[in-house]
Amino acid sequence: MTASIIDGKKIAADIKEHLKEKITALPNTPQLAIVLVGNDEPSLIYVRNKQKAAAQIGLLSKLYHLDENTSEKELLQLINNLNTDSATNGIIVQLPLPAHINTSKIINAISPLKDVDGFHPYNTGMLQNNEKPYFIAATPLGVMRLIKSVIPELSGKNVVIIGASLIVGRPLATLLLNQACTVTITHAQTKNIKELTAKADILIAACGVAKLVKADWIKENALLIDVGINREGKQLCGDIDFDDVKNKALAITPVPGGVGPMTIAMLLANTVDACLLQKSPL
Ligand code: NAD
Repeated sequence: MTASIIDGKKIAADIKEHLKEKITALPNTPQLAIVLVGNDEPSLIYVRNKQKAAAQIGLLSKLYHLDENTSEKELLQLINNLNTDSATNGIIVQLPLPAHINTSKIINAISPLKDVDGFHPYNTGMLQNNEKPYFIAATPLGVMRLIKSVIPELSGKNVVIIGASLIVGRPLATLLLNQACTVTITHAQTKNIKELTAKADILIAACGVAKLVKADWIKENALLIDVGINREGKQLCGDIDFDDVKNKALAITPVPGGVGPMTIAMLLANTVDACLLQKSPL
């Protein structure tokens, strides 16, 4: 049996098409502020991709590209200005920030109502409490859509996540727990990781280690979601060894073309939601 390939590009394209129609019906165009400090190469690419996707669906994105040496105070001032600017619906700060800037301080300064990355403690806390946050982080949201395209009913499923980061592993674990899954989060210090992953109905790899997951790490007929983006020469690859697992899994997301396009689509969806949220009283 060969695993079916989950076409994240196609699912993301459908979401973007739907958003395009939604935007046309709005009285004003949603606007996303993207704050970038410095010239980190991957960040420049990610920002360019976000702006390109925004333009494709008629969403306005405005880039605030600041010098590497921008002070924390200056950055906080910009965030404050964007928080009160009525034309700005969503604010994202591209990470990582330079080392002299305290990332938490910056994220915490973004209005939760404009925090379309879903990183503000108000939003993460509400998610944790199984209440409705204004926004949920885009990558976990995208992963949930991909999982549900294969397994719509998640209650009781055994899920293992490799990676416990604030932007992927942890919010994803909460989302899955909120859907009544049994969730195990593993990380770099986890012992005998293979024994845990081999029991997963759904295995999500989000650790940034190229081709870490091999066929003997997975259960027969498992659903595999590969969040990792790693560079091997000129090629991109995920955290799962695609060729090694493809005859054992039920379905798998490719890299590229799986989770990546979904992350951008969900960020745009959050920005459209932000526009609607700010138009209607809470
Ligand atoms: P991170 O560095 O913040 O966290 C990595 C996590 O993986 C940590 O919890 C760490 O303990 C764990 N880990 C590291 N090595 C491990 C190992 N050998 N075994 C088990 N656990 C291990 O990374 P992140 O920001 O969460 O990103 C993870 C990967 O996902 C990266 O490749 C990143 O590029 C990718 N990513 C992709 C998207 C997307 O849209 N496709 C979005 C975000 C991140």
